[in-house]
Amino acid sequence: HDNSVKSPAIPSTRLWIGGRWQEGRGGADIPIYDPSTEQIITSVANASLEDGIAAVDAAEAAAASWAATPPRQRGEVLRRAFELMTARAESIAQLISLENGKALIDARGEVAYAAEFLRWYAEEAVRLGGEIGRAPSGAYNIVVQHEPVGIALLITPWNFPAAMATRKIAPALAAGCTCILKPATETPLTAYAMAEIFAEAGVPDGVVNVLTTGSAGKVTGAILKDPRVRKLSFTGSTEVGRILLREAAQQVLNCSMELGGNAPFVVMADADLDAALDGAMIAKMRNGGQACTAANRFYVHESLYDKFADGFAERMQALKLDDGILPSTQVGPLINRDAVENSLRLIDDAVSRGAKILTGGTALNRKGFFLTPTVLRDVPADALMMNDEIFAPVAPIASFASEDEAIAAANATEYGLISYLYTQDLARGMRLTSRLQTGMVGLNRGVVSDPAAPFGGMKASGIGREGGHHGILEYIETKYTAVSW
Ligand code: ADP
Repeated sequence: HDNSVKSPAIPSTRLWIGGRWQEGRGGADIPIYDPSTEQIITSVANASLEDGIAAVDAAEAAAASWAATPPRQRGEVLRRAFELMTARAESIAQLISLENGKALIDARGEVAYAAEFLRWYAEEAVRLGGEIGRAPSGAYNIVVQHEPVGIALLITPWNFPAAMATRKIAPALAAGCTCILKPATETPLTAYAMAEIFAEAGVPDGVVNVLTTGSAGKVTGAILKDPRVRKLSFTGSTEVGRILLREAAQQVLNCSMELGGNAPFVVMADADLDAALDGAMIAKMRNGGQACTAANRFYVHESLYDKFADGFAERMQALKLDDGILPSTQVGPLINRDAVENSLRLIDDAVSRGAKILTGGTALNRKGFFLTPTVLRDVPADALMMNDEIFAPVAPIASFASEDEAIAAANATEYGLISYLYTQDLARGMRLTSRLQTGMVGLNRGVVSDPAAPFGGMKASGIGREGGHHGILEYIETKYTAVSW
């Protein structure tokens, strides 16, 4: 196939520490692969523990003056980063598609979404109010102010290499924090491209540091042990999140955790079937199914079940699966071979328990990590795919008879990130929303993510919220002064 379109500007691949590109001391460079072709794109520097501590030194050296920088000035820097990212949107989208594999249309959507966090927090930087009140006794006043929480370690996953970075860096900078970004080892190039943008936008040296490492656990462990670091913001698996929370306990760190999901997609008998199918396609297939918000389990009322299942299979079968960077591609490859093998294992398991494959269910026999978009019906509740995060273009469907049964099934998971609910009765929808144990609900909508809204989960899906006004509060300490005047 045609590789000629793959020409994004490749950023520097060295560590970005204290405003300088530096070699890593952690050993050999790390090769970065194109999941569409399995070819090596380039390799990036490999940080050692000492490099991790050097990043803390740089963040510490910049901390006081960045915290003292007027909020308007911090906002202007973020605004310039937004303008630069927007001007470079196509090149960054191609870079994302190249290292992550996602379809270029998804990558373009991600760039727009990622840039919006920069604009939103450019605006929020000047909107951090405090409180003032009189003590109930009348003897003094209660003054509440906000301070930056301090140096933040930001750890991001590979599925949204740009958006997960800006969703953390933008509020951190707006609040007056300096930070160290540790991007996923699979997709570091976008993070380095963002480092270039922040530098050009006028972010002072040491305020944003970016490092890649082949020993994530060791390097982040050393950073988290450093008492100068006061904040951890992580997006990734619940499994790694639990490890990090244990490590963060030592310094009693302020933690924001965006962890795994197992989103139910519930279609009530009174749903608009076509709207539900449109929503199902977006909720399942945004980013090729590799999103923590991806609909993981479909519960459809028995009166609509056959029509929904057939309509969904038809739409999934029509999708064009190919190299992510090609303009006609609608679904790209998965991130790596393990992801394909894990999906096939989940599909085999479901079939062995009685599920029927309506479309897909196979890996493509070519270079790259391609899995055909898959729909299964009659998937029993004990199938692994109803309980584990699938993270692939695989959609299991089950039917239900009563509202209570649907809500019980939706909540029967340790996760609580998002649910999707389709009903044309808005009052019923709002009543059921309050029974769904998730931080977010898509009510007659297949996508909810918005830089202006608080994104986050309940239960094992995480702690804290990103986006909206809530997002900046994750990077502040509250200072209360009792004062008589
Ligand atoms: P995913 O399943 O999306 O790959 P992970 O939780 O494995 O999610 O990874 C998310 C981020 O956490 C990545 O940047 C990865 O390099 C990093 N990571 C993985 N293991 C550890 C660890 N033990 N300690 C710190 N960071 C880790």
